[in-house]
Amino acid sequence: MQYRTLGKTGLRVSALGFGASPLGGVFGPVEQEDATRAVRAALDRGVNVFDVSPYYGDTKAETVLGNALAGVARDGYCLATKVGRYGPDDFDFSAGRVTRSVDESLRRLRVDHVDLIQCHDIEFGSLDQIVGETLPALRRVREQGKARFVGITGLPLAIFPRVLDRTDDVDVVLSYCHYALNDDTLAGLLPYLRQKDVGIISASPLGMGLLTGQGAPAWHPAPEAVKAACARAAARCRDRGSDIARLALQWSLANEEIATTLVGMASAEAVDKNVACVGAEPDGPLLAEVREILAPAYGVTWPSGRPEND
Ligand code: NAD
Repeated sequence: MQYRTLGKTGLRVSALGFGASPLGGVFGPVEQEDATRAVRAALDRGVNVFDVSPYYGDTKAETVLGNALAGVARDGYCLATKVGRYGPDDFDFSAGRVTRSVDESLRRLRVDHVDLIQCHDIEFGSLDQIVGETLPALRRVREQGKARFVGITGLPLAIFPRVLDRTDDVDVVLSYCHYALNDDTLAGLLPYLRQKDVGIISASPLGMGLLTGQGAPAWHPAPEAVKAACARAAARCRDRGSDIARLALQWSLANEEIATTLVGMASAEAVDKNVACVGAEPDGPLLAEVREILAPAYGVTWPSGRPEND
């Protein structure tokens, strides 16, 4: 495993992080036993970051992850969860709700603190409220020892400078679906984030399923043209005796400015496959072919949140 420093937090995090949303059943049903085996396999192979949210599977992912981590030494892993998003259209970034939410998450996760507490998908809220109310509430949570560091997450890249230019309360940003083979537009924001000294987490290097052999799940928000281009790229990899998920991960994991890349995993087999991608060179000629196939869909994203935050 490779380890990188998560910005000013100083945390040494594994280049590959465990995305726990699948433990909530969002990509298909998952048994506790399989989830526990996946989490333990990840720990054994040096993965030390686990990211979850009360939103995933309507709190189920936190409960399943908490069960899977029970008995593991608390200083052996970095645990990240979120506040503010509780359903597809259920957001509450008020100080009262997020403060209660942390306590609820700690109970489900069976720990007395998390390493990172993040405002989940802030583009759905008022950025004024995030800066003026939510982040100050999380600063108090931090002072109480219930979280060590604070982060913000969301899809539109524009939200990050809009918040970071107005507060010093953010240690980490989590961007998703923007550092993958079909969309690496996060790269353009890296110099700014470096200058702000925030830790950078990139999630969904497989585009939430787009860059896998099985393809995107039915709920996937990408436009059809993106899904079709990714399916063509996946087929080309298959024809070449390769696997688009492996190629995509090898490529995304190589950027050392990104402290950790979160991949959704729910089985020990997926953990093994993905850990093997750390430090491995992508196949250059195949990468070039895939890039060419994906070119018409490059950087195409989808609306998320309030129009004024896009
Ligand atoms: P992802 O791009 O990691 O894709 C996950 C899908 O790919 C799942 O179906 C998984 O089973 C499958 N997969 C994993 N490894 C594979 C392999 N080797 N071969 C084939 N398929 C494979 O998307 P994700 O799970 O949505 O994102 C990763 C994590 O990042 C999430 O679990 C979550 O923790 C975090 N995340 C956070 C936000 C946010 O805060 N707004 C948004 C998206 C993701």
